[in-house]
Amino acid sequence: MPTETFTGLPLDELVARLGSRSRALAARRWLFETKPVPAALAERIPGVNTEAWTALRATAPLPAWRIADRRQAADGTTKLVVELSGAAVETVLIPGRGRSTVCVSSQAGCTRACRFCATATLGFTRNLTAGEIVLQYLLARVEAPLDAPARNVVFMGMGEPMDNVEAVLAAASLLTDEAAPRLSANNVTVSTSGVLPGMQRFLRESAAHLALSLNATTDALRGQLMPHNRVWPVAALLDTLRDDHVRGSGRRYFIEYVLWDEVNDSGADAARLVALLTGLPAHVNLIPHNAFAGNRFRAPTEERVLAFQRLVHEGGVRCLVRWPRGSEIAAACGQLALMSDPRSADPRAGGASSGQSPRSSPGRRRERGP
Ligand code: SAH
Repeated sequence: MPTETFTGLPLDELVARLGSRSRALAARRWLFETKPVPAALAERIPGVNTEAWTALRATAPLPAWRIADRRQAADGTTKLVVELSGAAVETVLIPGRGRSTVCVSSQAGCTRACRFCATATLGFTRNLTAGEIVLQYLLARVEAPLDAPARNVVFMGMGEPMDNVEAVLAAASLLTDEAAPRLSANNVTVSTSGVLPGMQRFLRESAAHLALSLNATTDALRGQLMPHNRVWPVAALLDTLRDDHVRGSGRRYFIEYVLWDEVNDSGADAARLVALLTGLPAHVNLIPHNAFAGNRFRAPTEERVLAFQRLVHEGGVRCLVRWPRGSEIAAACGQLALMSDPRSADPRAGGASSGQSPRSSPGRRRERGP
């Protein structure tokens, strides 16, 4: 694998290599305007000196990629299995009203052992490079409907972004710099299972949003569900968000809360969740568990999900339910494990990730967010 790739070159580096800012902007725009996505960089591109471009192509090619599988659900959610050098990951395009969201993977597999997540069953292959993360956005955006361009990116696919924070910070910066695709930092959200050192660095160095997968309100339960909670417990995670808020970052914090029947969906859980988030500009996303073979967790009934949402909402905390998107193609949250069929017995047999959409929120309009 080349150490440098075109999609991973920071803008100032591209400017230096091509000899001017206008050439660098032209080069990046060329890539984002070329459809279908090219397998390799063209020999010449308009607006860029051929000699400088030839030198760049030789040292910073596109990351090697191949779409090994593409599946589309009835609602338009599209899951790609993308083969990279020595790794395969899943990338999901989730169409919305007026804009689509791309869910990217940050690692092939994951080292964390969350008991409810299909990706955890895969083991860990390797970290992705920044260029490979940006490439996933490039590949997924061409799947977006014309009336809903891909303007949101969530790092909620396979992997724990804060275990690969260097590449994740670089990718978030590439997606939001002044060349293409020029996303707003407000429309980029990185989700973490609570890997504190990476989370702290991310909050210091990025303007993008953070989603914390809290999933439980006590250390006793969270430690069972997410073993690394024993290293970085709930209070430490929320104190870090509070510190960032007090520093005046102006961020909202997305709190992801997967709901499991009779595990974390009681009235007492809702009350503890509200208490934990008091004073934080937090926005809770409830995710009813998405099932996969070999996993014993179950989602609560729709009534129980809505009752939990009502309690959180009445406690004064913004709260949406992310009803599954793309679960019939194993593209919903927690299903990304390179399976083709969510009911398949063997998680390695074929594709999975992360479409979830808001459907209801008592007394609140639909809002954007991860
Ligand atoms: N590792 C990161 C990002 C990937 S997971 C993180 O944990 O945040 C993205 C979201 O899917 C997380 O909020 C996670 O809690 C949730 N999730 C994992 N498994 C799930 C499942 N089986 N059903 C529903 N959501 C799940």
